[in-house]
Amino acid sequence: MLKLETAITNINRVGTATAKRLKSLGVETIEDLLFYFPFRYDDFSKITRIDELKAGTSASVIGQVELIQNKRSFRRKMQITEALVSDESGSVKVVWFNQPFIAKNLQTGDRISLAGKIEEDYGGAFMSSPVYEKIKSPHPPLLKGAVAAVNTQGFVPNYHLTGNLTQKQLRYLIKQVIGLAEWLEDWLPKEVMKKYNLVSLPEAIKKIHFPQKLDDVEIAKQRLAFDELFLVQLQSILAKQEFSASTASSIPFDEQKTKDFVNKLPFKLTDAQRKASWEILLDIAKPKPMTRLLEGDVGSGKTLVAILAMLNVAWSGKQAVLMAPTEILAKQHYATISNLLKDYDITVGLITRTEKKISQNLEAQNENGKKKKKTLSPEFVLKNSQIVVGTHAIIQEKIEFNDLALAVIDEQHRFGVGQRKTLINKVGTEQCSVPTKLSPHLLSMTATPIPRSLALALYGDLDVSVINEMPADRKKIITKIVLEKDRQVAYDFVRKEIGKGRQAFVICPLIEMTDPAQLSEKEISFLGTKSVKEEYEKLNKEIFPDLNIGMLHGKMKTVEKESVMNDFIANKIKVLVATSVVEVGVDIPNASIMLIEGAERFGLAQLHQFRGRVGRSEHQSYCLLFSESNSLPSNTRLKALVDYNDGVTLAKIDLKLRGPGEVYGTMQKGFPELKVASLFDFDLMKKAKEGAQLIVDTDSSLKGWPGLKNKVGEWDEKLHLE
Ligand code: ADP
Ligand code: MG
Repeated sequence: MLKLETAITNINRVGTATAKRLKSLGVETIEDLLFYFPFRYDDFSKITRIDELKAGTSASVIGQVELIQNKRSFRRKMQITEALVSDESGSVKVVWFNQPFIAKNLQTGDRISLAGKIEEDYGGAFMSSPVYEKIKSPHPPLLKGAVAAVNTQGFVPNYHLTGNLTQKQLRYLIKQVIGLAEWLEDWLPKEVMKKYNLVSLPEAIKKIHFPQKLDDVEIAKQRLAFDELFLVQLQSILAKQEFSASTASSIPFDEQKTKDFVNKLPFKLTDAQRKASWEILLDIAKPKPMTRLLEGDVGSGKTLVAILAMLNVAWSGKQAVLMAPTEILAKQHYATISNLLKDYDITVGLITRTEKKISQNLEAQNENGKKKKKTLSPEFVLKNSQIVVGTHAIIQEKIEFNDLALAVIDEQHRFGVGQRKTLINKVGTEQCSVPTKLSPHLLSMTATPIPRSLALALYGDLDVSVINEMPADRKKIITKIVLEKDRQVAYDFVRKEIGKGRQAFVICPLIEMTDPAQLSEKEISFLGTKSVKEEYEKLNKEIFPDLNIGMLHGKMKTVEKESVMNDFIANKIKVLVATSVVEVGVDIPNASIMLIEGAERFGLAQLHQFRGRVGRSEHQSYCLLFSESNSLPSNTRLKALVDYNDGVTLAKIDLKLRGPGEVYGTMQKGFPELKVASLFDFDLMKKAKEGAQLIVDTDSSLKGWPGLKNKVGEWDEKLHLE
């Protein structure tokens, strides 16, 4: 007998090939299949009488096959199957191209249902390549909506497909098992269901696959979307409860030492930096874990604010960690921080996939007495440093901090909710043995202006600090779209700037151009696009043969990348040709030119990030955009970049151009996928939140709702696995 957890291979007509394709859609069991939702519906809800068919429309017809035969069209070199189908009102010609097997599948006398386009030629109206289905019941209720047919009547579901899977196949499979939806456990508490007028889960599942009327789709979606948002909200409320019940190390704010440190910096903090630091330092002085988002445009100086917080943690004898999304960025942070702290008795550690080291006490690096050990063990780094910098390697390693009091996440939108959770859970066992669990404070940093409502939806309740001003010495970056004919002028300009001591970035969309014959479809769309390797060759040999040019991309070995980066930092390399590896965070204050090839290939936010690599000091900086396309949308985007310098305005424009789903869509990374709900359905979000609160207020242990409790656990697991 089929059950919800039965593997799909046990269903009729699912062989290994089909099973494999379904698996790539995430469908392995019958339950998965039921939760594989259509993304749209064809409306064949009305069955048209044959004498009412009109050319140029789509229609659904039920009738009997009067005649069917294959013909060969010599002129067009194809096989044509022609049939005559009739109902009580008349008959119509039906034509299929290059599908001769249809003449075998269908026979004179068969009752069939057809759905497709009506076209017209000199011989009159005909149905062109319709979807067809045999109707088994001898007397289908004509003109009365769908009963037996799945593909040609009513609202026909359309699913996202893969490989050779067809709509017909998927509909057939789902139709076979749809009855099992009855067995789905309805985990949503009855009182919530009633309060918000939601249908049961089995009903929603049936309606979303095979709606009888258009309203059914809405009713089903309402329930299924509610489920998703309800779980998000419930988890966020529970997490908050747990969080506020937990205690954090109170980090005393050492005002005098902090001032001394700040006074030694080569620049003055901006007021916004001061205010944000103040908010954070007061917050971590409390014995409650902080959850704070630090928003500030590219180049606004967020790192320093984080450093002040981490410094106070180190002074208090505890540990702080800073996690960055790329290795290049992590190493840069490590270098900046260990350099700033070289006169202090604070050890900074680095943990990336390929490298583990600490900044001070070189003797100690000879762990186990071995000399010149290239890389240390992650445990050793953790044990010996007060400030640890790294990539997600930190959360992948099976290591625990001795005394983690503050976790900072740079470019937080690059990390998933689960990754953040794993990081703050990396507290040592010693800490956990204390009856009340000690949680670290959490500081997330981003240059993306996230609206408050979205932040709430994504991250639950959190505080926000904003750096809304740039350091005083900054000059507005001059951005220009450069036409191909002016390329030489641009290169002359770059040369002049380098003559003044500056450096330049050249960004290309691709690493290298491979043999076009071997390209995938996606790569073909990149034909004609500038690649790092080509540009590097060209600049090195033809344009600037007298200058030192460097190349940087993700496929290089770590040591190579590092040596290139170091040479660029040391101003030995004058022009760095790179891919988007330098997109976020990289800080080379002496660089004043950002030249972007194929700029139309990049999104607005990404371009703004690239541009943010220059203009990070008192030098006048420039952003030069080369475009390979003349399309209107890409021009609008580049024009916006020329006209506006601040991230908030650009984000607003981006929202107008692409819509919130696209702009913030990627931000859902690591978030349990929302299949039905939209993060922007604030009305439903509000209801879900209210409903979740109701349940938590009634009984936050969820004891009365075992199904719900399970569900929350499942979600938790998903977050951790990711
Ligand atoms: P982001 O906010 O993009 O992470 P960073 O923290 O990397 O920016 O800072 C960008 C550059 O500005 C760095 O070189 C940093 O040393 C410098 N900087 C930070 N604060 C100031 C300031 N108040 N005045 C001048 N330069 C500053
Ligand atoms: Mg940064």
